[in-house]
Amino acid sequence: MKPVKNRIFCRAVRHTKMLFETQEKAENFIRFNRDEILQSRRKAPCRCYYCFFCMGWHVTSNQSTEEGILLDQRDEALAKDLREKYLKRKEKVSPIPRPKLMRYAFYEQLRLADVHISMFDVEKAECCLAECRRILQEEELEWLKKDAMIVNYQHQCAILDGLRSLLADEDALPDEQLMKSSIYKICANNLSLLKEIDASYEGLMELAQTGSPQFPKARHEHVTLIAKIKGICKEQLKAGRMERADEAEEIYQTILNNRKIGEESP
Ligand SMILES: [Zn+2]
Repeated sequence: MKPVKNRIFCRAVRHTKMLFETQEKAENFIRFNRDEILQSRRKAPCRCYYCFFCMGWHVTSNQSTEEGILLDQRDEALAKDLREKYLKRKEKVSPIPRPKLMRYAFYEQLRLADVHISMFDVEKAECCLAECRRILQEEELEWLKKDAMIVNYQHQCAILDGLRSLLADEDALPDEQLMKSSIYKICANNLSLLKEIDASYEGLMELAQTGSPQFPKARHEHVTLIAKIKGICKEQLKAGRMERADEAEEIYQTILNNRKIGEESP
């Protein structure tokens, strides 16, 4: 076997070497492959050693263990040196300034609120917006109050209020101002679609269970409604409902098959 497996670039010897997790694995490699390698090459691995850079075991054809010890010492010193240089460089990098962090946190909460609103989770969305408010109040970031994201925040609050009244009152008239917002429009539209889908599901199941010839058309209409769901969480909203439609289809097919078998046998 040619030594082609587990090859990585070793920084100590500056070329690729095989790396083994344990001494035992490295020794086994030598035991089982040494003769074959010797047949095709002048040198073959004869001992293994621990590499401080790769944090594992390499094999070498260098027979001298004294030389090996010297090389190990060199590698260990080199590794230590590099580690210290790395730590020094890390210290020099200044931490992210707090205002920048807070702006990011603010933005992140707004983004999350968007997701929760799309999933109609009023409580979680409210938590995110409350966190935005806390950042605004406690951090005393005057510049953030003038930031464009404030407009987004106010917008999200309005959408959440709109969603609340949509959820509370089934016949709520769409708010004209809010209807200009695409997020709210998608949200309101999805909500009425979901109501329609969920309301028609029981009927669909009944058609499936009775093997009604009206089932295929009803299923098609049901799936068409599901496909109309839009927005950033459409896949999540669709998923469970698509599975239910597939389940109904399966039941319908089973009923048809059973009926066929019943007709064929006397
Ligand atoms: Zn190495």
